[in-house]
Amino acid sequence: MKVTEKTLKARCTELNLAALRDTTFGISFERFPKGYTVEIKYRDATLPQVLAVEVTASEAQAVIEGVAAGAAAVKAAGAVKPEYITMETFTRQAGARCVKCQSKDIVLAHLTAGAGTITQLCSCSRCGQTWDSVYALSHFDYGAVAV
Ligand SMILES: [Zn+2]
Repeated sequence: MKVTEKTLKARCTELNLAALRDTTFGISFERFPKGYTVEIKYRDATLPQVLAVEVTASEAQAVIEGVAAGAAAVKAAGAVKPEYITMETFTRQAGARCVKCQSKDIVLAHLTAGAGTITQLCSCSRCGQTWDSVYALSHFDYGAVAV
């Protein structure tokens, strides 16, 4: 069967409503003059992940089927839930929870200043996960300067 924009659209819709329904993402494509772009779109504000750019319709279909097969394998393995929270969730929670198990029982260790950022080593007392929380420099407050 010839792959067209229409069949791709139907397949994406079918996957998003069924196979990918209980995952954190959906799949989508766009047709541009130079070819198709295929993307994974997350259900929260995480930036889309581009999987293919300027490919033919049948190449786009192969990418889409690859995602479907991957999602099916993950589901079969019983790990539908992503291992880590998204960056959007992390910042919304102000870095106050474990990036893996969401426990509030976390240990904030030493700070390391870098170029416009401060990195803090964190660890979770519940699951043992460690991560770096990265703080971005935003402004100074001259009211706090002693004269
Ligand atoms: Zn944890």
